[in-house]
Amino acid sequence: MCSAEQTINAYGWAATDSSGILSPFHFIRRANGDNDITIKILYCGICHTDFHLAKDELGMTTYPLVPGHEIVGQVTKVGRNVSKFRVGDKAGVGPLVDSCGRCENCDEGQENYCSKLKWIFNGQFEDGLRSYGGYSDKLVIHERYAVLIPDKFPLEGAAPLLCAGSTVYSPMIYFGLAEPGKHIGVVGLGGLGHLAVKFAKAFGMKVTVISTSPNKRNEAVEQLGADAFLVSQDQEQLQAAMGTMDSIMDTVSASHSLLPLVDLLKTNGKLILVGAPVPPPELPVLPLLFGRKLIAGSACGGMKETQEMIDFAAKHNIAADIEVVPMDYVNTAFERLAKNDVKYRFVIDVANTLNPSF
Ligand code: NAP
Repeated sequence: MCSAEQTINAYGWAATDSSGILSPFHFIRRANGDNDITIKILYCGICHTDFHLAKDELGMTTYPLVPGHEIVGQVTKVGRNVSKFRVGDKAGVGPLVDSCGRCENCDEGQENYCSKLKWIFNGQFEDGLRSYGGYSDKLVIHERYAVLIPDKFPLEGAAPLLCAGSTVYSPMIYFGLAEPGKHIGVVGLGGLGHLAVKFAKAFGMKVTVISTSPNKRNEAVEQLGADAFLVSQDQEQLQAAMGTMDSIMDTVSASHSLLPLVDLLKTNGKLILVGAPVPPPELPVLPLLFGRKLIAGSACGGMKETQEMIDFAAKHNIAADIEVVPMDYVNTAFERLAKNDVKYRFVIDVANTLNPSF
């Protein structure tokens, strides 16, 4: 356990039970170590995973839970061994805050698949302190698990890239989807989905959005640049598009059938699951066999890949489409997220609205 000198006071908003309702919360973080940076949190995106965890929908939450894993902020302190950051830099932090640093996954920059991985919230560090996320004033983190946000990048729009952006970019690269002219379907036009459209277009791909929300068609095509839009309940539209897609990225947060998606793939097509639907869908085995089709899952990217994604996004002007909200709006934001009422990401203006005097 840490002594008082080894910790600093922090505050934020936490859920304390499976109602998922957040309220002000004081806690401690470790003090800045030799390899650490301290970040004053400026903005934090609200990912659907925050909602899943706050309500314990995945059956793995330990309360109190301070969510938030799409963080941008300003570096206020650096340890003496830190080489990547200087005080005043803008830093980004996603879901990862620690890993063993020695295994094959860590050596290959895949800390996200390290068996000793620590998540930014709902976990416990080796020193016994619990990990708390970005709906809070500050963060202390080993420099390895933070990325540099390039100058002039709009920080509010950058925040969701730290999880949503990296989660859709990583499988596009790893599974070789990101080839100009290849046809990708993006299922679910939410936080992850709208960024998948933007990255896929920047890679020169043909993009079809597959959505339950006909009212998102115009924005998908006219603002996000999608080439086509399918309403997933419209059997005629699905039938006409069967066998036309090289890959599909499924970002849906709720239970749904995979069979119509498998049918949309060409022979040898790849369906990549990045959403975490509750309950999970059934596997349509025979249609996979008879088209040599692949279904795979993918988590957010490792640290090297996350920095590459941020640099690619800055170069191609990719930022999230956001609604900036104050900290005390978070419970309303959760309610609206559950009703699919956000285009396309809430971002909390932490620095200007998190009030310490509660
Ligand atoms: P989001 O903003 O709420 O978007 C989810 C989208 O799914 C909605 O916009 C909606 O799109 C669609 N949808 C919602 N309910 C549906 C239903 N009943 N049937 C079919 N489609 C439905 O959520 P997000 O933040 O993008 O996160 C999406 C999922 O990815 C969540 O489960 C989250 O936990 C998971 N996630 C995973 C990782 C990872 O490491 N793999 C990282 C981040 C998030 P339409 O209106 O277009 O249908």
